[in-house]
Amino acid sequence: MSARIIDGKAVAEALRGRLAERVSALGFRPGLRVVRVGEDPASGVYVRNKDRAALKAGLDSATIQLPEATGEAELLDLVAKLNADPAVDGILVQLPLPRQIEAVKVLAAIDPAKDVDGFHAMNAGMLATGQRGLVPCTPKGVMHLLAAARIPVAGARAVVLGRSNIVGKPMAALLLAADATVTVVHSRTRDLAHECRRAEILVAAVGRAEMVKGDWIAEGATVIDVGINRLPDGRLVGDVDFAAASQHAAAITPVPGGVGPMTIACLLENTVEAAVARRGVREAG
Ligand code: NDP
Repeated sequence: MSARIIDGKAVAEALRGRLAERVSALGFRPGLRVVRVGEDPASGVYVRNKDRAALKAGLDSATIQLPEATGEAELLDLVAKLNADPAVDGILVQLPLPRQIEAVKVLAAIDPAKDVDGFHAMNAGMLATGQRGLVPCTPKGVMHLLAAARIPVAGARAVVLGRSNIVGKPMAALLLAADATVTVVHSRTRDLAHECRRAEILVAAVGRAEMVKGDWIAEGATVIDVGINRLPDGRLVGDVDFAAASQHAAAITPVPGGVGPMTIACLLENTVEAAVARRGVREAG
């Protein structure tokens, strides 16, 4: 069998198009502020792509760049100002932060109603208890991909590989909320291959290049590869051995061009949702 490719670029483009229409009907431009401290090279491209996509969708988006030596109090001051600014609907503090700043403290200071990354404990708690809040962008993007590819989730055996707060845990919560039977596996799991082989939907978010082998995939499974790993030769690969897994899976996301493009599109979606909820806007349709 050779798997159907789930085209994240196309799904993200369609979502961005729908958002642009939604924004133009609002009559105002939802405001997004991305705060970046220092020059972490890995996040540079990501921040520039965010800005470009946000402006194209009609958002009022800007990146606030602070020097590497910025202190925690100074960053907390800025967050407080953005919390108080009525034109700002979404605040995203780009991680990682320099050593002198405690990320947990900064994330906790963001107004949960403007927390478009969905990392605030209040939003994590809302997700865990089945309430409407802001949901982390990457797992939200995965749910969009499953829907676009018409993969049945309710009742399916889903395995999430990885349990980070930004991907694995919210991914498991979203799949559970969509009525999947969810197993979360991690570095202390006894027989990873065996657990993965039971998956009808496998979401890999480990950060280990091509760790998931072809024979870990059940015949006909859906494989979603969140991983982004740079090999020494410069190539970008996921957490799944794509060629081998494609021989077993029925549907699979590529890297790049799978989950990656969905993350930014979902950030825009969260900003629009935050704006609509905060400003009490009634949308048509
Ligand atoms: P983390 O490093 O925070 O978490 C990795 C998880 O994988 C942990 O739960 C860890 O287990 C588990 N793990 C690590 N090694 C193994 C192993 N050998 N066997 C089993 N489990 C293991 O990573 P993130 O969740 O932040 O990111 C995961 C991947 O997704 C990365 O490649 C990252 O680049 C990518 N990513 C992609 C995004 C996108 O937009 N497409 C967005 C965010 C991330 P334990 O908890 O036991 O330590």
